[in-house]
Amino acid sequence: MCHNVIDGRLHLECQHFIPMSTRTQDCLRPNCLFSRRHEHPIGCRSTSCIRMMSIPQRNPIRISETKCADCIMRERSAPLRCT
Ligand SMILES: [Zn+2]
Ligand SMILES: [Zn+2]
Ligand SMILES: [Zn+2]
Repeated sequence: MCHNVIDGRLHLECQHFIPMSTRTQDCLRPNCLFSRRHEHPIGCRSTSCIRMMSIPQRNPIRISETKCADCIMRERSAPLRCT
């Protein structure tokens, strides 16, 4: 079964994953609707064909030990406490 692979950056400190690009991993099966090897590219009615993609997989191509930009922004916009 085909699935999307999401390349992105994982921020270790906040555990957020920032997607950068998505690509499709082709399973190359003739009975998969999403594969370019699918046997019936037009008007497939075969019940044995797979019509669902499996869940996307995250692929951290970069690992950052800091927080993500969103978290840094959120922290900065938080009201400063006066003592
Ligand atoms: Zn497939
Ligand atoms: Zn088919
Ligand atoms: Zn974050």
